[in-house]
Amino acid sequence: MNYNKDNIFAKILREEIPCKKVYENDYVLAFHDINPKKKLHVLVIPKGEYVDLNDFTNTASEKEIVEFSKAISHVANLIGAKNKGYRALTNTGSDGGQEVPHLHFHIFAGEKVGKMVS
Ligand code: AMP
Repeated sequence: MNYNKDNIFAKILREEIPCKKVYENDYVLAFHDINPKKKLHVLVIPKGEYVDLNDFTNTASEKEIVEFSKAISHVANLIGAKNKGYRALTNTGSDGGQEVPHLHFHIFAGEKVGKMVS
């Protein structure tokens, strides 16, 4: 799938629409999900244009992959999930339930997250 520059997270990265920012560096942006499914629900996205995890692992640089991986646990710690834990997941494609075609990891925390899938 080609990257669609009109997706909502691309617009957030271009600051065309606002977000509630949690963390940012040269490689990633993390912000609160607009429709939180748990007490804490944060999204971590790479700044590069990657549709999903397949696209990212196949085409991103080693540096981008390392920085993105590190950012997920860093952001979880930033939002206070270090001691009690959290769930990080990414949806890929239509069977995975991906709605926004820009790679993102969800971080759920702040309470018992519950069953892994329903
Ligand atoms: P997914 O189904 O994995 O693609 O998840 C997309 C997520 O993006 C959902 O949890 C939405 O609530 C969230 N979302 C959509 N638009 C925005 C936005 N403008 N700001 C923050 N989160 C958003």
